[in-house]
Amino acid sequence: MKNFFRFSLPIGIAGIIINIILFATNSYYELVVPLIENSSLEGGAFKFFDDLIFYTPVIFIILFAAYMIAGFVYKKKSYAKTEDKVTEKLIQENEAVQKDLDVKAEYLKHKYYTNCPNCGAPGAENESVCRFCGESLIVKENKI
Ligand SMILES: [Zn+2]
Repeated sequence: MKNFFRFSLPIGIAGIIINIILFATNSYYELVVPLIENSSLEGGAFKFFDDLIFYTPVIFIILFAAYMIAGFVYKKKSYAKTEDKVTEKLIQENEAVQKDLDVKAEYLKHKYYTNCPNCGAPGAENESVCRFCGESLIVKENKI
């Protein structure tokens, strides 16, 4: 579908211009009408095909215009879809950043032992619990 509408604007414009020229110069009609005149068509059938050939460029102009409009609508829709996807991704990234900040903010609320009060292992940054023994590294307010 994407490829079908890829060049809908230039193709549509070119198609409309070509068919306007064909209709205005009557060249297409002049070219094809001898075939109809030499056929055995009579009366209503002849008039119908005669009209059909005469108005064929007009029909093509309408079809090319419809193709162009459909292309516009499709491109607008797919653009909106892409925009939604980008927005969704940004929200997700923002949420991840916010989560990270929340963890850091929570960490900064407390004071920490540089070494575990239980086993003496050094505490790393952003760690509120000892990696080795699971003891809390938070310095209790009443102990300060
Ligand atoms: Zn420990």
